[in-house]
Amino acid sequence: MLYVEDEAEIAEILIEVLADEYDIDHAASGEEGLRLALGRRYDVLLIDRRLPGLTGVELVEAIRTARIATPALMLTALGAIDDRVSGLDAGADDYLVKPFDFAELRARLRALRRGRGAGDRRELGEWIFTPASQALYSPDIGRIALTQAESELLELLSSSPEHVFTRDEILDAVFPGGSATTVDTYVHYIRRKSTPEIIETVRARGYRSGAPR
Ligand code: CA
Repeated sequence: MLYVEDEAEIAEILIEVLADEYDIDHAASGEEGLRLALGRRYDVLLIDRRLPGLTGVELVEAIRTARIATPALMLTALGAIDDRVSGLDAGADDYLVKPFDFAELRARLRALRRGRGAGDRRELGEWIFTPASQALYSPDIGRIALTQAESELLELLSSSPEHVFTRDEILDAVFPGGSATTVDTYVHYIRRKSTPEIIETVRARGYRSGAPR
């Protein structure tokens, strides 16, 4: 685990609490956290939102921009809903408001490590797609928000990357009652927001998700 927290006393307590379950690298600043995250592969990231210099939100953003999909839990002392949302928007998978219960922290971390729910991340070419937050990330462009329908379409295609989905299959799953043009229109929307290669057209058959490169 990579744990980024500048306050030494808090860090000391949490490291002690989690040491039986995790091998922990501790970074005392966002900059150091980024250096470690780029240099090593971790199973989970625990990031304090309030850091001097590079903030927790900026750190998560930088990690996602570098196409590192490791699940991240953000710790926030701020109660405002906007602050929680900004962490998730930046690419965190979950957040916990201080003060929190240690048992809950453990449970959330375990859930993230198992890749359940919000930790679901899929590679589509150069992009990372996170169905839970309906967003795409690219190293060049950053974060792109998808609509519910766009996200559901991409979720279907990326659920089985080798499979070519016919328009009928897509209609049944995502746009019941729609027409073949509905499918083509949404494919167009997603490509226009991101890149044409994100969805591959298989002539006379249908669509499949762009292959990881
Ligand atoms: Ca802090």
